[in-house]
Parts: sequence; structure tokens; C-alpha cells
Amino acid sequence: MIKAFLSTLLIPLGIFSIALFLLPWIDEVPDGLEVVRHYAPYPVLIFTLLLSLSFNQTRLFFVLYLTAIFLALILGDVKPPVFFTPIDEFKFIQLVFLLYLIAVVFFLFIKERGIFTVRGIIRLLLCSGLPLIPLYLAGEQTLLNLDWLSFIIFPQEISQKLPFPDITVAFYLFIMSILIVLLFYRPGVVESSFFSLLTGAGLALYFFPAMARVEFIFTSALLVVLVFILRNSFILAYHDELTGLAGRRSLREFMNKLGSLYSIAMLDIDLFKKINDRYGHDVGDQVLKMVAGHIANAGKGGKAYRYGGEEFALVFAGKNRDDVKPCLETLRQTIAEASFTVRGKNRPRNKPKAVNKIPASVRRSVRITISIGVADNQGAGNTPEEVLKIADKALYRAKKKGRNRLST
Ligand code: GH3
Ligand code: MG
Ligand code: MG
Repeated sequence: MIKAFLSTLLIPLGIFSIALFLLPWIDEVPDGLEVVRHYAPYPVLIFTLLLSLSFNQTRLFFVLYLTAIFLALILGDVKPPVFFTPIDEFKFIQLVFLLYLIAVVFFLFIKERGIFTVRGIIRLLLCSGLPLIPLYLAGEQTLLNLDWLSFIIFPQEISQKLPFPDITVAFYLFIMSILIVLLFYRPGVVESSFFSLLTGAGLALYFFPAMARVEFIFTSALLVVLVFILRNSFILAYHDELTGLAGRRSLREFMNKLGSLYSIAMLDIDLFKKINDRYGHDVGDQVLKMVAGHIANAGKGGKAYRYGGEEFALVFAGKNRDDVKPCLETLRQTIAEASFTVRGKNRPRNKPKAVNKIPASVRRSVRITISIGVADNQGAGNTPEEVLKIADKALYRAKKKGRNRLST
């Protein structure tokens, strides 16, 4: 979890550091390039919008859509309707920023519901209408009192140094801390993208009204989002969603890279169909996850893959069959001795401290065993594909001999 969290933070950190490093040059781009700099966020925005749409990341789509509208208003590419003007620009930016933060939190916690659904279309219309709020409130003929925007929260010395009013800064820091905590527990593409967009928005606000910097920072933030979307599609292609293990495609690629010595083990859960039949598919899935967890920690540098269904593969580079047999045997025993406590549908929300505190009605202990076949490339098999086939045959023998055993 910590590894995923840190790698998620590293991407925005890297890209934003480069962007901040380049800022002095951005201020002084040659005349002809100013237009490029000004309009640079838009193609990236359109590209990320289309990608989020094609990957069904609708929450990200809505936030990017709002980003597009607000950015176009801030950069002056879309002029507000005449009855809203004149507008207090500073107040406008601050209100847009606050509203953007609220929208991000909203889309952070709602469920994915699609765009071309009734709910989705209502959301799209609401997002389109959202800019009217800051436009009206920042207009000089507004009837509402906005004194709260300049409330002092921080001590005088800090407050004076802040580039923006206390309320905005405090709210921003509050939302960012929520995001970071959330990112730790579920570092998904939506959370990471929102984090980069808000980091970008915070930096942009800091640099406002230096528009060249605002444009550049937003382009960078959108590039981070792009990287996250592409990274996510890569993870989806190479990893199995249920168990989190690498999938068949990764196995094939890793097999192509194996050197002159390696072993491959094939592992299969015994009588798994019965578990599904008796306890249901959801319990079957829980068992798969638990077994996958054990296999991933098999040791001896073994790389774990979900081969398909309830079958797994472990590949050991630089190890022969005898090197890996002890750890496979330990793995088999560990799984056979662990009693998997199946939690039923009405399981308590919080995991009870001791297993025997779970009411008997929702507690069922299931015994799981696995069979393993292992082979290396020092025997009959020369290519990884052949070695895998030999391991598979050994697995078949383990099943025939009565399951819950290791065969070579
Ligand atoms: P054996 O000991 O001979 O391996 O018997 P088995 O029942 O484990 O083997 P079989 O191939 O007959 O059944 C495998 C079952 O695994 C059938 C299928 O429904 C189940 N299965 C495959 N993938 C999944 C999955 O992702 N989730 C769940 N819950 N079940 C799965
Ligand atoms: Mg099986
Ligand atoms: Mg099977």
C-alpha cells in the first residue's frame, strides 16, 4: 500500500518540479510562441477528456469538464455574458477556486454513474451551469454579502504573507489533506488525478495574475492526469483485478526474458468448484484473493501470476527445481493449515478483534488446499513454454495422486 502511495505521489512531484524549474523561461517565450503557451492546456484537456470517457472514468470526466470551463473563463477565452459584467476579477478567481474544490470533493465521493444516463446528463447540465454562481457573486450588482471571503483565520503574521485570503487557503489545505489520506487508502486513477489537478490549481492560484504561469502550470497538471490515465490502462492490461497479481500477459513477457536457469511452478486450488457451489461465487472470490496473497509471498524470488481461473504460476529466475521445492512445500502447508474464515453477507462492518467474536451465523471456516507441479529448464524442457507444460503435467499428477501435494 505504501509503495503504491509513494509511486502515485512521485509522478506529480516529478512533473511539477520540472514545471517549476522551467517557469523562468516560460515568462519569456519568444513572441510567436505566446499563442502556443496560451492555448497549450486545451489540446491536453481535450485529449484527457476523451481518454477518461473511453476508459469510463466519468467522475474524472466531469472534473476535467469543469476544469475546461473555469480555465476558459479565467484565461479570458470565454467572455462572460454582458449582464454579469463588470466583474471583480480577484473575487471571481477566489470563488471559482472554492467552487472547484467543492466540486472535486463531490466527485470524489459519488459513484461512477456514466454520462449518457439520466443522472449523467443532469450532472453535465449542472456542471455547465456552475460558472454562473461565481459570475453572479463576483459581479458588482450582486445582492449577497461576501464579507466572509476576507475573514481572517490565521495569526496576523501568517495571514499577511498569504497571497490569497485565509478562507481560501484554509479550505484548500483542508481538502488537500482529505485527498492525501484518501490517496493512501485507494490510490486509484481518479484520486491521483484529482490530487494533481488541485495541486495545479493551488500553484496556479499562487502565481495568479501572472497568466503565463497559470497556463503553464495547468498544462503540467493535465499532463500528470494524462500520465495517470495511461498508467492505469497499463496496470489494467497487465494485472488481474481480483487478486492484484500480474496476469497472463505479464507472465508471457517475463518468460521471454528468462536467462539460462529458471524454474516454473503451476499451482491450482483443489476442488474449487465445490467451494463456489457450496458458498457462492463471492466467497470463491475471497478465497482466490487469500490464496493469491500467500502465493505472492512464496519467497525465493518467485514471481507470482494468476494464470487463469483458480490457477497460478510462480516463476523463479536463476533457481533450479531443487532450490525451490522447499519453499513450494512450505507454501502448500501454509495454505492447508490456514483455516479461511469466510465472512457472510451480513458480516460486521468492522473486523472483530478475535475470530470467535464473530457470530456463528456469519462465520464459516473453510479448508483450502492447493496442488503444485514444478519443473526447471535443466531437464526435458528447453524453452519456458516447454518447462511450463512439464510443470502443468506434474500438477496433473499431483491431482491424480490425491491433491494437496507437490509433484515434480
Ligand atoms: P481440481 O481439484 O481438479 O482442480 O477441481 P476444481 O473444482 O478446482 O477444478 P475445476 O476446473 O473443475 O473448477 C474450477 C472452478 O473455478 C470453476 C470456476 O467456476 C471457478 N472459477 C474460475 N475463476 C473464478 C473466479 O474468478 N471466481 C470464482 N469465484 N470462481 C472461479
Ligand atoms: Mg482446481
Ligand atoms: Mg483448474
